[in-house]
Amino acid sequence: MHPQTSSVQTLTPPTHPSTTHITIDSRTRPGLKHTVTLVNGNVRACTCEAGRNGRVCWHTRYVAKVRASQLAVARELHTRGWNTEQIATIWRDTVELLDGDRAAAADVLIAECGIQRAA
Ligand SMILES: [Zn+2]
Repeated sequence: MHPQTSSVQTLTPPTHPSTTHITIDSRTRPGLKHTVTLVNGNVRACTCEAGRNGRVCWHTRYVAKVRASQLAVARELHTRGWNTEQIATIWRDTVELLDGDRAAAADVLIAECGIQRAA
């Protein structure tokens, strides 16, 4: 398949602030889940002990790392003319790594790249 360059859209930041919560299973306490909060795609807080005390925890680092790699991949795909549906599918697959709220995380990523979701 050869994507049409004319279909490439301009990447724009979201116009409205968005807040997303991603839940991550605790590594040390089975059954316990921590919630990482993102505002406009930026990691802001975590409900774990370290996070509640204002310290950086592995949950927030992990979410930020995965998010950064997803955005990089998405932007690359976008410039190659992938359509929104294809990119959204890739995102949902990669967000699966987080083992959390996949749909919510995908929504943030889609909003960040200013791509309209396929109807
Ligand atoms: Zn945490």
